[in-house]
Amino acid sequence: MSSSAHKYSLTARIFIGMAAGILIGVLLQLLFDDSGDFAFSVFGFEFSTYNILVEGIFSTLGQIFIASLKMLVVPLVFVSLICGTSTLSDPSKLGRLGAKSVGLYIVTTAIAITLAMSMALLFPPGESGNLSTDVVYQAKEAPSLSDVIVNMFPSNPINSMAQGNMLQIIVFAVLFGIAMAMTGDAGKRLTAVFEDINTVIMRLVTIIMNLAPYGVFVLMAKLFATVSAETIYDLVKYFGLVFIVLIIHGLATYSILLKLLSGLSPIMLFRKMRDAALFAFSTSSSSATLPVTMETAKNKLGVGNSVSSFTLPLGATINMDGTAIMQGVATVFIAQVYAVDLSMSDYLMVILTATLASIGTAGVPGVGLIMLAMVLQQVNLPVEGIALIIGVDRLLDMTRTAVNITGDCMVSCIVAKSEGDLDEKVFNDPKAGLKEEDVDFEHFEKNT
Ligand code: ASP
Repeated sequence: MSSSAHKYSLTARIFIGMAAGILIGVLLQLLFDDSGDFAFSVFGFEFSTYNILVEGIFSTLGQIFIASLKMLVVPLVFVSLICGTSTLSDPSKLGRLGAKSVGLYIVTTAIAITLAMSMALLFPPGESGNLSTDVVYQAKEAPSLSDVIVNMFPSNPINSMAQGNMLQIIVFAVLFGIAMAMTGDAGKRLTAVFEDINTVIMRLVTIIMNLAPYGVFVLMAKLFATVSAETIYDLVKYFGLVFIVLIIHGLATYSILLKLLSGLSPIMLFRKMRDAALFAFSTSSSSATLPVTMETAKNKLGVGNSVSSFTLPLGATINMDGTAIMQGVATVFIAQVYAVDLSMSDYLMVILTATLASIGTAGVPGVGLIMLAMVLQQVNLPVEGIALIIGVDRLLDMTRTAVNITGDCMVSCIVAKSEGDLDEKVFNDPKAGLKEEDVDFEHFEKNT
């Protein structure tokens, strides 16, 4: 399929897939609500149309799509980070990159949670008093800060890769890359090999991105056929507030920071983030979206490999502004529902723990709720309160994941600009990276 074969851009196709999936999902739910399942039997076996479509076809294809994205994460992060570090001419740059990105990630997360709690205090979402506090939630154990730090260092890098432990992979790849840079000719030969592997993996990312309209369709159809809209009505204030703060932070805070710290155009950033944001929205996982985020940063935003290969995997693991926003609103909401008064020092404690919690949180669906338990415990709020909001969390998870990865790319652009590693021609070119999106399957067929 050559690029001219598609009438619509990839973004438009993903969007159509998403809209169609939502429509089919909602229709399926409405149909089966009114008239029951269209069950039929073949050779004595009972089949249900709903189950075949939703639990069978949509669920299976959706899982395959997410697995294909995740499949790329470990090799992509490892190889591109090695390429990024082994070609660094100035080793002190690594320290600067680390300090700048970690600093910006922490500051943006703290802003996010402060904004969320201020809004929740101004527009109290949990004071209507008609929610029952008679609910149960079994909290999982959250890791301590020292565990998080010690766990960054792998005792067995192969194991880290098998487990997909991103921070450990980052530490190993950075050390390996530095050693390669110090190893003269052998290092140079190896760098060339890794760069070739990197090119091939990026190609694979593009191929899988081309399948996204279908992947997104099945994910949305499955979700909207199963998610219950009723839970939203009870929690409409909480849901609406988290949603609004996510949008304000995603649009306003990021625009201001990007403009102030780098002078770059926020409109251009948002425009180019569309595909990655749609991926994040459909998968609810910063980690699964990482291949697309990296492709976007390199090809569309012009962020150099040494910056993007370092800041983005790090960001997908430790930077979760959207998650922090949910935690900020949820903490105030739960305090209001249980009529607990929080003091100023409690609020500061929430900002601190939620910011630290996001560092130890993996970029996978729903994990923000687990970390919320840790935040609630710090200020002696009932962890059972999580059960109140769990019903609407999936839909919020989608939106906050899109904010999470937009924050990663925003920071990546600021760091790249400050390091002189941003190709502004690419950043300002609305068409940059678009040609890459279409895979020439015909060419592939002729060659094989
Ligand atoms: N799903 C989010 C992410 O991957 C994390 C969370 O908030 O649960 O970024």
